[in-house]
Amino acid sequence: MSLAELLKMLGLGAVAIALGLEGLDWLLARHLWPKRGSRQPLKEVLFFPSPPTCVEHLYNPVRAHPCLCPLPHGLDTSFSRLLEHLLSACVSLDLCLFSFSNIELSRAVLLLHSRGVRVRVLTDRDYMAITGSQIGVLRKAGICVRHELVITMHMHHKFALLDGRKLITGSLNWTTTAVQSNKENVIVTEDPQLVRPYEEEFNKLWEANDPAKHPPQTHSRNNTKGLLTPPRDE
Ligand SMILES: [Zn+2]
Repeated sequence: MSLAELLKMLGLGAVAIALGLEGLDWLLARHLWPKRGSRQPLKEVLFFPSPPTCVEHLYNPVRAHPCLCPLPHGLDTSFSRLLEHLLSACVSLDLCLFSFSNIELSRAVLLLHSRGVRVRVLTDRDYMAITGSQIGVLRKAGICVRHELVITMHMHHKFALLDGRKLITGSLNWTTTAVQSNKENVIVTEDPQLVRPYEEEFNKLWEANDPAKHPPQTHSRNNTKGLLTPPRDE
C-alpha cells in the first residue's frame, strides 16, 4: 500500500469515527441523556381526601426503631406526597395560606425553619386566630408571619413556593378537615412560567402587608357595612 493510499484510508476512517460519534451523541441526547435545559419540569396532581397514614418516616428518615403508632405504614398517599414536596425545601419557603391548622404540615414547616430554611407566612387576619390555627405556633418559633391588612377582603390563597422554583397550589386549605374529609385538588409544578407569577404575587402581597407601612387598625370587619364576614372554609 502506498503512502497516499494509507493516508486516504486513515482519512476515511477518521470521518467514519466522527460521524459515528456524532450519531451516538444524537442518539444519547435524544433518548438516553436529555440535556438539562430540555428536561420536562415537574408536574404532579394530587387529589384529596387522603386517608390517615403514618408519615413519621418523612420527618425522621433514619429512625433507629420502627414506628409503633396504630396508623397504617408504608403507604404513598396524596398527603404523604404533599408532605414530601414540602420537606424538600432547602433554602426558602413562602406560604400564602388562608387557613393553617394541620399539625403535621405545621411540624414540617417548623422542621424546615429549624434547618435554617427562610420561612415567610402570609395569612388571613381572621383565620389566623381561630381555634387550632398553627399561625401562633409558627410565630412563637420565630417564623415571620404577616396577615392581610386590608380588612375588606380575605387573603384566600392556598399556595406554597419552595426555593423559588417549586409551586404547590390548589383548593386545599392546610387543615385536617380539608386533607381527610374534603374533595380537593393540588398541583405541584416546577414550570417557571407558573412559578414566576406566583413568586411575584407573593412578594407583592408581602410588601403590601408590611405592618411597618400601615397604621394600626381596629378589627371591625364584622361591624362595618359592606365588608365581608368570615366564610366558613375548612
Ligand atoms: Zn407510625
